[in-house]
Amino acid sequence: MTPGRPVPPPLAKPLPGTPPLRDASQTAPPALPRLAAAFGATASGSGLVPLTVARRAPKDDDVEIAIEFCGLCHSDVHATRGEWGSPKYPLVPGHEIVGRVSRVGAAVDDFAPGDVVGVGCLVDSCRECESCLDGLEQYCENGMTGTYGATDARNGDAITQGGYATSVVVDRRYVLRVPGNLDPAAVAPLLCAGITTYSPLRHFGLEAGDVVGVVGLGGLGHMAVKLAKAMGAGVIVFTTSESKVAAAKELGADGVVLSRDEAAMAAAGRTIDVIIDTVAAPHDLNPYFRTLRRDGALFQLGLPSGLMPPVNPGALIRRRIAYAGSLIGGIAETQEMLDFCAEHNVVSDVEVVGADQLNEAYDRMVAGDVKYRFVLDTSTLGTPSEKADA
Ligand SMILES: [Zn+2]
Ligand SMILES: [Zn+2]
Repeated sequence: MTPGRPVPPPLAKPLPGTPPLRDASQTAPPALPRLAAAFGATASGSGLVPLTVARRAPKDDDVEIAIEFCGLCHSDVHATRGEWGSPKYPLVPGHEIVGRVSRVGAAVDDFAPGDVVGVGCLVDSCRECESCLDGLEQYCENGMTGTYGATDARNGDAITQGGYATSVVVDRRYVLRVPGNLDPAAVAPLLCAGITTYSPLRHFGLEAGDVVGVVGLGGLGHMAVKLAKAMGAGVIVFTTSESKVAAAKELGADGVVLSRDEAAMAAAGRTIDVIIDTVAAPHDLNPYFRTLRRDGALFQLGLPSGLMPPVNPGALIRRRIAYAGSLIGGIAETQEMLDFCAEHNVVSDVEVVGADQLNEAYDRMVAGDVKYRFVLDTSTLGTPSEKADA
């Protein structure tokens, strides 16, 4: 206020556009649902096309997130193309979500607008079964609710729609805190590829000085190399492709074995403590079992569409070797992984793409032509239309 100027009288009427004052007895107006611009599939052969998704108004425990980046996972390709059974179309994929909180429900006190947060592969689970109570929601005995293409029992059996979108609404229990020192685009793939490789290494009880074998050097494999190195382990990469030898060493691998070279595989015998096998095509595991030391373990993370060649039990029995599977990680462990990555400065190697490059990115992903993860910049998705498609 300039000294000497008279104080203007109070306005008799609110200025145009000013919301009317409410007295304390009135409750807040109900939050409204919002439409999000998205890209997704409308049929198995449609490719990815622009869509508009209806996002529910945040309920008491909900966090609404303005999505900034979403990683492209190989599962997204299988799901949208109907290669894992027939999904309900339209289907918006994406479960490597990073963004900022835009609104929170009345009961949310652990997240606030502006916070950088993430959402991975699950947005709900029963919260009551033994696995959920153990913090292993990914193994929910009543079936976890996937981030896309799943029936959302707590929200009127709506089909969940994923992160190739400008916003999403998720219960706070399934929202993760993204450490501020990490590049948000490069964090996105940690929410699937990162936790999928982190969880079995922790479950095995990996210790500094152990040796980890990584089979396959794609999105999952490159995260396995980085995480195992950050945990203080030695890393040997197994690959069928000579062209990946230099790339594996650039990522920090201590050695690379061409898996078709029988002499090299024999030389690697009994040198490895735990193998992270990321290959999703059927392949013979027996040569890998021979590289494991006593009490070693092989974790299979890729899900082949067909059966694997038979396992020779003798190889397992003679050195008490375990053959196991593993599926992503629980919410608490995913947060632990993000905090570990912040401490050790681990992120994914990413190529950021716009919406108009999604279909080409899918083809390149299938061809293995990416180092090592595509990430969608959701600011390229445009604006939602007036009516929702899903
Ligand atoms: Zn994934
Ligand atoms: Zn459960």
